[in-house]
Amino acid sequence: MVHFIDISLPLHGKTVVYPGNPRVKIRTLRGKTSWHSEIMLGSHTGTHVDAPRHAFRDGGGVDRLPLQAFYGPCRVLDLTRVAGAVTAGDLAGYRIRAGERILMKTRNSRRGFSRWRDDYVWLTGEAAAWLAQRRVSLVGIDSLSVKQRGSPDNRPHTALLSRGIPIVEGLDLSKVRPGRYVFIGLPLKLMGLDGAPLRAALLG
Ligand SMILES: [Zn+2]
Repeated sequence: MVHFIDISLPLHGKTVVYPGNPRVKIRTLRGKTSWHSEIMLGSHTGTHVDAPRHAFRDGGGVDRLPLQAFYGPCRVLDLTRVAGAVTAGDLAGYRIRAGERILMKTRNSRRGFSRWRDDYVWLTGEAAAWLAQRRVSLVGIDSLSVKQRGSPDNRPHTALLSRGIPIVEGLDLSKVRPGRYVFIGLPLKLMGLDGAPLRAALLG
């Protein structure tokens, strides 16, 4: 039997959002014979993917990202010793190859996601460019942004998104041991949008 490890953040009214992003609002309504809900959700809420449109005005929307990037073998890298930023030097020992899906487990996962912390671990612009050069097929991280908050260096987004490499943010890797898995997580088909939530899991 296939064993799924859920690596998605829960979505509810108290879900922590990136500063300035809309809060999650859910209102459940009663019909005559059923219930249905109205959901207000930012496109970068919880576990989600960034599409090229997030960094480029004319970039492709989330519906244009190839679905094959979101299903297949992946590696979870142990970057839990890194404080501050993940650099190309931190990644250099991993022999990363073209086509790989790379998920970065940092101390963000250990600290949890119940409140916002400004000092999360992010990816440097230089490390993002290094990953883009290696032509990975997907990059994931356990923070709500791959980029340092407030930094003028947007290469963590642009280096990857300019090559059409999806960035999955808001992964909860706290229950995952570094190693090889199969990743699955398909984004919602929100036409032309800059990002979309997804339900992500590892098959181990
Ligand atoms: Zn995002």
